[in-house]
Amino acid sequence: MGRYSVKRYKTKRRTRDLDLVYDDVSSPDSIRRLKNQEIDETKPGLGQYYCVECAKYFESNVALDRHRKSKIHKRRVKALKQRPYTPLEAEAASGLNVVKFIESVEKYKQSEEYKNAHKDEYEGLLNQKKDELDSILVGSSSKTESSKSEEDMVD
Ligand SMILES: [Zn+2]
Repeated sequence: MGRYSVKRYKTKRRTRDLDLVYDDVSSPDSIRRLKNQEIDETKPGLGQYYCVECAKYFESNVALDRHRKSKIHKRRVKALKQRPYTPLEAEAASGLNVVKFIESVEKYKQSEEYKNAHKDEYEGLLNQKKDELDSILVGSSSKTESSKSEEDMVD
């Protein structure tokens, strides 16, 4: 009930705009690319555990997994299912670029149709796991979170 909502402030500092993320999740190629990024030491989890929908990096498979089951993630997925807000939309509302706007709506419809027709492929790509990599990256370090995966590692 506070006058200052820290949470709201935080969500305002988005890393990537929703309409850009919408493009990210709209083609299998781009999902694949984002899910298979180069090792980057400056990123959490070396850039290997990326949630495409939220445009966020995680430290491990466990963390990514937990995130993908969270409310925050589910809310995001829902938001992405609706047409993302674009500057074009605001312009069209004031009578500018109406044709362009209609074109973009057409494009959106087509991409949604495509997505629905290839739902399994999309889901598979977005939920792609890197269990092996996880045991290499996290399993050997001193992270307490890895205690469970150590059992799984035994052949
Ligand atoms: Zn997410």
